[in-house]
Amino acid sequence: MQVRAAVLEEFGQPLAVKAVELAEPQAGEALVRLEACGVCHTDLYAASGADPTGYTDCVLGHEGAGVVERVGPGVRLVAPGDHVVTLFAPECGECVHCRDPRTNRCTAIRDMQGVGLLPDGTTRFALNGAPLRHFMGTSTFAEYSVVPEIALAKVSPDAPLDACAPFACGLSTGIGAALYTAQVAPGSTCVVFGCGLVGLGAVIGCKLAGAERIVAIDLSEERLEEARRHGATDTRVAADDTVDWIRGETGGFGADYTFEATGNVRVMQQAVEAAREAWGLATMIGVAGKGETLDVVPRLLITGRRVTGSSFGGVKGRSQVPALVDRWLAGEFDAEALVTRRIALDEVNDAFAAMERQEGVRTVITFS
Ligand SMILES: [Zn+2]
Ligand SMILES: [Zn+2]
Repeated sequence: MQVRAAVLEEFGQPLAVKAVELAEPQAGEALVRLEACGVCHTDLYAASGADPTGYTDCVLGHEGAGVVERVGPGVRLVAPGDHVVTLFAPECGECVHCRDPRTNRCTAIRDMQGVGLLPDGTTRFALNGAPLRHFMGTSTFAEYSVVPEIALAKVSPDAPLDACAPFACGLSTGIGAALYTAQVAPGSTCVVFGCGLVGLGAVIGCKLAGAERIVAIDLSEERLEEARRHGATDTRVAADDTVDWIRGETGGFGADYTFEATGNVRVMQQAVEAAREAWGLATMIGVAGKGETLDVVPRLLITGRRVTGSSFGGVKGRSQVPALVDRWLAGEFDAEALVTRRIALDEVNDAFAAMERQEGVRTVITFS
């Protein structure tokens, strides 16, 4: 079939929105009709050429939500008509990591996914007869995509799909970092550095976990206002004295849990320093630039602080994303408010520009 898709043809150049060919789903794969797709920093990072593992030509996008249209042979996890959220972090349920409750680092298809191929080593997308590679195993900047069944989370059909899209990446990453990676204890004090979608997700996760104080730090007053709306009890504009201020607010000790959601290694350092002596846990969520390192004074660790991190918030996609969507539907938090702009696929390059200007929380492409 012919589908419209946003294609990365050359690093640093605008994406080309054009008709491409999409083949039928093969064994273990599903054809998904996308209803919505969030525009994430990782798409922009890949398109810029700064990502050392990036490649062209490919169909970008990885924050998708849609409906299963058809399935290939042997598919048992999803069926036509199912509402699904795409998972760049799949869950096969069988590998050494899927069988362990401590992690979501499924190993099943990562090698092929990393080079833009489906698990059988081929692509379903093509342009003028030449293979067109997939991106993060999902390629959701397209009207339709073919996705491995283990990379689809079946969610409630009652959930509006445009607000489901952020669950495919940023929102679940933030919520999961608090609930699954850090396992925030009720009554604790948390600090979240950075209030983009991931940081706001961490604020929401801390609230769901029953934290007593949730301090949000950001350079933008507007984003801090957003953080208050989603559960932050205290906010502060980021400054050089942020760590001292946090210690002052916590009897000189620091916070029980800190979360870093900017990707800036200097801020990561602050997140470690602001964690409480004796048991503070600093969780790294932001993605640092190529070659950058995190400097930690060992004394901070000897005196009881711990540092950890996770990808996709440690969320096991197929088993845990549906439950997060249900908690949103039950009114425990407001996922809809995080979608601050809806655009058509043709406007994807404008969405990248708006992201660089840090406008809004999440722009979502809608397809119907
Ligand atoms: Zn993302
Ligand atoms: Zn697995």
